Amino acid sequence: MNEDPRQGDDPVVRPGTLSFQCLAEECGAMCCRNPYRVDLGENEVNRLAGEVDVSEVLDERASMVLMRQIDDSCALLRDDLRCDAYEVRPDGCRDYPFRLEVEEGLSPRVVRDLACPGFVGPPMTESEYRTLVEQLTRCAR
Ligand code: SF4
Ligand code: SF4
Repeated sequence: MNEDPRQGDDPVVRPGTLSFQCLAEECGAMCCRNPYRVDLGENEVNRLAGEVDVSEVLDERASMVLMRQIDDSCALLRDDLRCDAYEVRPDGCRDYPFRLEVEEGLSPRVVRDLACPGFVGPPMTESEYRTLVEQLTRCAR
C-alpha cells in the first residue's frame, strides 16, 4: 500500500499529488468509452456545432444531450485514440481526470478520478496546482 496519502487512493488533489500525463495508448482511451457518458450544455453543443455535424455525434435523451456512443466508444473517438474535435470538446472532457468540487461554506477542492492511470508525472508544484484550480474554475463558469 502506498504510504503517501497524496498519491495512492486519495482522490483529493493538492500540491505534491503526482501530476497527470495522458496515457491513452496504455488505457485504450478508457475515459472516451462507456460508462463515461458526457452530458453537454447549450454552449458546449454550439461549440461542437462549429466543427462537426452534431446530428452525427450527439444523442438527445429526455432533457439531456449526450455524446453518441458507437460500439461502446464516443462517436468522436478516432482509431488512433485521439478526439476528433479536441479543441472544441465538451467541458467534462477538458476537465477530466479532474473535477472541481464546490460545497457551500467550504473552500473549493479538486478531486481526480482514480480510475485514470495517468497520475505518473512528477509531484505537482504549488504553482501548477494553482493553475489547475484556475483552469477548472474558468470551465465551471
Ligand atoms: S485521461 Fe486518463 S483515462 Fe483518459 S485516455 Fe488519458 S490516461 Fe486514459
Ligand atoms: S468528445 Fe472527445 S474527449 Fe470527449 S469523450 Fe468524445 S472522444 Fe473523448
